[in-house]
Amino acid sequence: MSATHLPLARRAPNLVGSVIDSSTSLLASQTHDIVRFAMGAPSDDLMPVRVFNQYYGESTPGKYTYGATDGEPELVEQVLALTQLQGIETSADRITITTGGMQGLDLACKLFVDPGDLVVVEGPTYTNGIATALSYGAEVLEAPLDENGLVVEELPELIARAGRTPKAIYTIPTFQNPSGATLSRARREQLLELAERWGSVIIDDDPYGLLRFEGGPVPGFTQIAPGHPLVFSVRTFSKILAPGLRVGWVDAPTELQQLLINAKQAMDTCTNVPAQHLVANFLKDGHLDTHLRWVKGLYQERKNAMRDSLRTHFGNGVRSTNPEGGFFLWLAFAGAYADIHTQKLFEPALRHGVACIPGPAFSTTGAFSDALRLCFATSSPERIDEGVVRLKRAADEMLEG
Ligand code: PMP
Repeated sequence: MSATHLPLARRAPNLVGSVIDSSTSLLASQTHDIVRFAMGAPSDDLMPVRVFNQYYGESTPGKYTYGATDGEPELVEQVLALTQLQGIETSADRITITTGGMQGLDLACKLFVDPGDLVVVEGPTYTNGIATALSYGAEVLEAPLDENGLVVEELPELIARAGRTPKAIYTIPTFQNPSGATLSRARREQLLELAERWGSVIIDDDPYGLLRFEGGPVPGFTQIAPGHPLVFSVRTFSKILAPGLRVGWVDAPTELQQLLINAKQAMDTCTNVPAQHLVANFLKDGHLDTHLRWVKGLYQERKNAMRDSLRTHFGNGVRSTNPEGGFFLWLAFAGAYADIHTQKLFEPALRHGVACIPGPAFSTTGAFSDALRLCFATSSPERIDEGVVRLKRAADEMLEG
């Protein structure tokens, strides 16, 4: 039912839904077997639930009441230890614990984006990131992306054409969602220079950086320019541990922390306290390292399995990226399959028992209609092969129909 007869705020029409999130409930309502390439989440068997249960089972006095808005000190301490291991210089007065990465994005836009402000995003990019910027009235400008991430060299020309400088540049620099691409060091440096020239904040959304399973590391913005006043880093435990915990953090300039606390107090008071203690204990007891080593091995195997299956079943009918970490592979139909419109493929694919997200979901312009985002992290190699076979059946049916 439409709500237009209600006294809605002007921003209400800017609240666009997320195709990705909606697919969770759509898939839950399906009664037939579906290979799930749609959601970007670790599969249940890859979440360390037994260890979690152990911590939740502990007597936890004081852990079921309100906590500090900027986060439980035990978790902040563990986040600092984790960042220190990565060679990142930060401090407790730069860290705010958030309710997942989404809250970090929301806080960034709340602090920096006014209605009508220009926000540069990668094309394609994470749907919910676009949705957050739009919810604050941003005008989104999509900049191209290649195998080395955002094509930073093209930004000056794009911005000149737009006739105004961006307030924010939203980037997913490592194992990008949806493409799997990683922004090169040179481009990170160039982007920092442009942000300084334009006075734009870089919203550095990096949920997958700790999931590198091959290739050499690329230093992050926080390593290249420690404490840079224009870098707002959004992090989450969703991909490295479990998304249902809803625990993440922001690493941002100290002078923003009180504003972040004020904004968060007007949103949710504090992040779920028992979940914060669970994560803090998990890290303190040294489980993260073992866990990451285990899952990264599996993700690498799964990525290779997906690329092998695509080659076997589609031959040169598809091209795909070859990410060195993270969850996603970006596929573009080619050759005999070049005319497939992936939004039209969604329904037959689901009927044939495979779910993936069509390319246009990652853009505001309707682009990428030949592309699909496939999450390789969720399924075993055997299931991945089955999923690709089902995808081919659906694609063949479309071509024949
Ligand atoms: N940013 C990106 C790039 C993501 O892929 C995701 C999760 N899909 C998020 C942010 C949101 O993370 P969370 O689930 O912790 O809110």
